[in-house]
Amino acid sequence: MADEQVSLFGEDPAARAAALRKEIEHHSYQYYALDNPTISDAAFDSLMRELRELEAAHPELVDPSSPTQRVGGYVGEQFAPVVHEQRMYSLDNAMDLDELDAWMERTAEACGGTLPPLCCELKIDGSSIALTYEDGVLLRAATRGDGTTGEDVTVNMRTVRDVPLRLREGALAAITPGVDSLELRGEVYMPKKSFELLNAAAVSEGRQPFANPRNAAAGSLRQKDPAITQMRDLSTFMYAIADDRSLEVTGQWELLQWLREAGFHVNPDVKLCETAAEVRAFCEACLERRESLPYEIDGVVVKVNEFARQRAMGFTSRAPRWAIAFKFPPEEKTTLLRDITVQVGRTGALTPVAELEPVVVAGSTVARATLHNLDEVHRKDVRIGDTVIVRKAGDVIPEVLGPVLSLRSPEARVWEMPSLCPSCGSPVVRDEGEVAFRCISIDCPAQALERLLHWASRGALDIDGMGEEIVSRLVESGRLADVADYYSLTEDELASLNMGRVNKEGEPIRLGHTMGKKLVAAIEASKGRSFARVLFGLGIRHVGKTTAELIADAFPSMDALMAAGEDQLAEVHGVGPKMAHGIWLFFRTPDNLPVIDRLRAAGVTMAAETLVPGEEVPQVLAGLTFVLTGTLVNSGMTRDEAGARLKAMGAKVSGSVSKKTSFVVAGESAGSKYDKAVSLGVPVLDEAQLLHLLETGEVPREV
Ligand code: NAD
Repeated sequence: MADEQVSLFGEDPAARAAALRKEIEHHSYQYYALDNPTISDAAFDSLMRELRELEAAHPELVDPSSPTQRVGGYVGEQFAPVVHEQRMYSLDNAMDLDELDAWMERTAEACGGTLPPLCCELKIDGSSIALTYEDGVLLRAATRGDGTTGEDVTVNMRTVRDVPLRLREGALAAITPGVDSLELRGEVYMPKKSFELLNAAAVSEGRQPFANPRNAAAGSLRQKDPAITQMRDLSTFMYAIADDRSLEVTGQWELLQWLREAGFHVNPDVKLCETAAEVRAFCEACLERRESLPYEIDGVVVKVNEFARQRAMGFTSRAPRWAIAFKFPPEEKTTLLRDITVQVGRTGALTPVAELEPVVVAGSTVARATLHNLDEVHRKDVRIGDTVIVRKAGDVIPEVLGPVLSLRSPEARVWEMPSLCPSCGSPVVRDEGEVAFRCISIDCPAQALERLLHWASRGALDIDGMGEEIVSRLVESGRLADVADYYSLTEDELASLNMGRVNKEGEPIRLGHTMGKKLVAAIEASKGRSFARVLFGLGIRHVGKTTAELIADAFPSMDALMAAGEDQLAEVHGVGPKMAHGIWLFFRTPDNLPVIDRLRAAGVTMAAETLVPGEEVPQVLAGLTFVLTGTLVNSGMTRDEAGARLKAMGAKVSGSVSKKTSFVVAGESAGSKYDKAVSLGVPVLDEAQLLHLLETGEVPREV
């Protein structure tokens, strides 16, 4: 990644390294001194890693003051400084199992070709602490600070309940004769539950919450008033000794046993491993259990067990060579924002999408992430060419959190919404007060595809089997342009649909009769879905599923809805002026009206059932097909409402008259359908006969 960023902007490596160092130092201060990180650990590690890679590729850039060469930390002035007799180190990281393997290979080499026994422990995500005991009594507690000098936090640590103020009698026997002072090390942490309670209280009292349990632990430890530390519910896990020669133990495993005997809290999840495979299995098992533990861990620490070997391997300027921290995959990474493209949705809304230099986040590769809308792009101030922070948690859709500003190249480009739709080239508009930009062309192919899929989707008309591949093919073949086109598809047409692939013999693969038949049946079944679903399926702007139901209750037929004014619509509970305008406009858009007419003619539900919900209606009209024409003047019903009631009694309602039509209902000014009925000899009912039929369920014998 580093190389590509450098070449992309022609930035010289020295400038990039300087920028990275400045950024890392700023975040270290926020983190260690203020206990208030402003980026995640994973993002911080990602910056550190880039700097390390840059320094490895350009050794002339290595500088002893670089954060890669030092133990990160801070010594504040509010506590007395404590100079550590033995330096406190950080740990080197293995970011994945391959890096862990590489470390184990190096370790085996350093130990004469055989992997020595390794002690594996959980990496507790807290704050380092050094406890000094003199003649078995707690004398001093110090933070790690910068590794050389720490802060004296004795009064505060005395309030932590699991820290023994005196070592247990039985453990003293193992102290090397002549040694009266022991420095023991471990981690102070805050359990997840206590962290949540602390932050909830902070929020309710208007204070700023801590970023994570680790910072909460560090912040609670470094309080001026020990009474506050005492209330914070801190705990410890101890795991090290400053000078192993002060105890008669030969290795890490034995040390842990002794610490337990001496009265310390020692983490139970430890394993002494003989092989690399055992180490890997332990790491994987810990990763799986991570969420279920009552405290945060951010990895596994693998240590050469034997102290004599540890001494032989020694330290680098910031970490022991004999240990490695296997870090769990981070959920945040930094990467390059190569470009911002635009996706067109079903309502024509244009969504900016981040095209990223692919990066593995939380175990999967992320190359694209939504940027939601233009305001969001500007609010986050992400520019093309920026190094950005990408987050992904579990199944959650990847998200660009923001840019790393200090790494911005002068050539980074501010992005603006295109003025033409990338799918159809029509002008893009933004309504007043709206966040989204949209393409308002009815012919936009990207929108058309999304609209067609929405109509067939489960929450809408639920055309079972009508998925993206088939719909795309039908669109390409020119057979499907709007939702009404579904209802004229025939089994033969569907069966012969070219799926754009070839079989072994090189012949085009077609959809086939089985699927064709299934789809035709599914299309037929969709005609009977509720009026609310039809409204939802039309994809009117702002009209979701629930709103569609509210609208269908208030305006129980398509005709009533189409006739409603904006004010009337806005009066419906749950429908605001914006939505009312959207609905009103939909039915005033000339291109939409013929589609609705064709849906009506196809027999798609155009009115809500006006019956008491749950009431069983005898299906006395099953097997009969009705066609309604003209205006119903006496009943106050629209044609759609009448059609819905006929359907509720089991009838089919069709838009066109044929020999198969059982009855034509003719209102006033009935036109060609009436004439056709007469010419085909189809019986015609007037409005009064229709009402009688609806009330009694009796089918007229003679008309
Ligand atoms: P580290 O926390 O990655 O590892 C070293 C530490 O691990 C030791 O000092 C020790 O305290 C601890 N540890 C926990 N369990 C242990 C065990 N069983 N055995 C041995 N040690 C154990 O390194 P670090 O130098 O302390 O801090 C770097 C960390 O701080 C990184 O994770 C980094 O992301 C974070 N950080 C974040 C920001 C930010 O702005 N978000 C800034 C600076 C540092």
